[in-house]
Amino acid sequence: MLLTCAQCKTIFRIDNAAIAPEGQKVRCSVCAHIWDVKAPAQAYHAPASGFVDILQKLRLPASMLLLVMLLSGVLFSFRGPITAHFPGLISSFNGIGLTIEPNLEVLEIRNLQASYQGNLLRVRGQIFNSDSFTAHAAPLQLQVLGADNTVLAREKLVPDSKFIAAGQTTDFFVQKEVEKAGNAEVRVDFLSESLLLDMF
Ligand SMILES: [Zn+2]
Repeated sequence: MLLTCAQCKTIFRIDNAAIAPEGQKVRCSVCAHIWDVKAPAQAYHAPASGFVDILQKLRLPASMLLLVMLLSGVLFSFRGPITAHFPGLISSFNGIGLTIEPNLEVLEIRNLQASYQGNLLRVRGQIFNSDSFTAHAAPLQLQVLGADNTVLAREKLVPDSKFIAAGQTTDFFVQKEVEKAGNAEVRVDFLSESLLLDMF
């Protein structure tokens, strides 16, 4: 910007950045006249691009911005345990396109027992949560396989609880008429599927 001394009419070229944003006093180096100068209007704004700039345009302070980014990362990574504690959030996660799936790495089938009474097959067992957070229980699939691996029966099993506290178990039980059950192999496996609210 150009400054003209009102007293001796000397013209000075100075850097815009040299003037404080709120304006300031300047002193003429020729005649020592002192006067007030306003900061020049900001002529140039970097164009906004991306999430961070948008948030900056919303005038979120940097600490808030960091918090938002941190929380969204944490919510993404820990949406399983979080929704196990707060099931009401499952639909919110689904609403933004994030499905919740049981973490099968922390779940274990224990104490599987199958018994027959005639053709009536009874299967019971437990799902153990080895994680240090509450976990979503997973639905199970019961398969009864004949000697030549033909599927005699297949059924979805739902455990007693939707959620399993850290280090705890939930039970499952089913009874079902199965022909030739006496010769069959009983298998129970986890079904991995998105945990929608109506799963159980
Ligand atoms: Zn002057």
